[in-house]
Amino acid sequence: MVTMFAKRFSELRPYVPGEQPKDRAYVKLNANENPYPPAPAVQRAIRDFDASALRLYPDPDARELRRAIASTLGDEVTEEMVFVGNGSDEVLSFVFYTFFDDDAPLVFPEHTYSFYPVYAGYYDIPVSRAPLAPDYSVDVDALLAKKSSGIIFANPNAPTGISLPLAEVRRLLDSYPRDRAVVVDEAYVDFGGETAIPLLREYGNLVIVRTFSKSYCFAGARLGYIVANPDLIRAVFTTKNSFNHFPVDVLTQRIGIAACSEAGYYTEINSRIARTRDSFAASLSGEGWKVLPSRANFVFARKPGVSGRAVYERAKAAGILVRHFDQPGISDFVRISIGTDDDMRRLLEALKGAWS
Ligand code: PMP
Repeated sequence: MVTMFAKRFSELRPYVPGEQPKDRAYVKLNANENPYPPAPAVQRAIRDFDASALRLYPDPDARELRRAIASTLGDEVTEEMVFVGNGSDEVLSFVFYTFFDDDAPLVFPEHTYSFYPVYAGYYDIPVSRAPLAPDYSVDVDALLAKKSSGIIFANPNAPTGISLPLAEVRRLLDSYPRDRAVVVDEAYVDFGGETAIPLLREYGNLVIVRTFSKSYCFAGARLGYIVANPDLIRAVFTTKNSFNHFPVDVLTQRIGIAACSEAGYYTEINSRIARTRDSFAASLSGEGWKVLPSRANFVFARKPGVSGRAVYERAKAAGILVRHFDQPGISDFVRISIGTDDDMRRLLEALKGAWS
């Protein structure tokens, strides 16, 4: 067929995000958004923002924001070790472009963030999926089993919520060629995972990707970042400057800086979310559900004998959205984001006794 579209276009298989239906008001527990507002300093920065600042382009290097982020990550992280972009999805696309080649497959766990295969397709990077361990945790030996052009996984992993201990991340890095990137996506680390930042000094091929969307209540503002050694960060700048000089706008840079000035607020709300998660998981288990041990702001759970789709539909009928992945191996599960205690009570109520 003759078409006006480029050949590469017909190969695109876009990522599908959590739905946002508008037919009624839903409690949204399907996109791992934070149920609490951003820190008061962010709200003040928005109130005090002078719209005339929009006339000028933002700082393309986002220096002040990168310095502010570095200051929240401990003494070992400097501004030169931080790159910022328009959400971690965009940051991931720069990472894929910069580090992963087509001479061997990119390896990632069989079940992980489903944007990774999408970007691999976008950049023509071959992929190979490593099975999870029987308990659904990331299996380091399986990731190492094949020759690869790079490795990427989320830690805690999505959609399982299971965290890989730092010792296992170190073991992976110890056994992997130093001239290939290992990318750890720490989108959910602030809810109880273990960060790989202390390993950056020893491993020059480690790339850590993070986001303000979840633990910093910024999903609507779009701010993600990389922490890595300065030469890797410089390389990603080259990629970014070949695509878009200004991915983080003036207002988002300003409120990102404000958010970093109140890191304690986020520690507080995120430990509250972790407590809500643990009591919600205990209640679900009490109702006969199997719940994977989560260190993220969501749980991955199944009710034996009931399909994931049936659970999703039941919750939706009660005005609550959860996420179901119609994929072999995990289609019995639903992924439930952790909202307020009240949101979780409503969901438990809706699910209670439904299938006993
Ligand atoms: N990584 C993981 C593991 C995620 O689940 C998500 C959220 N869908 C992202 C990255 C992207 O988040 P954002 O673009 O909002 O920073």
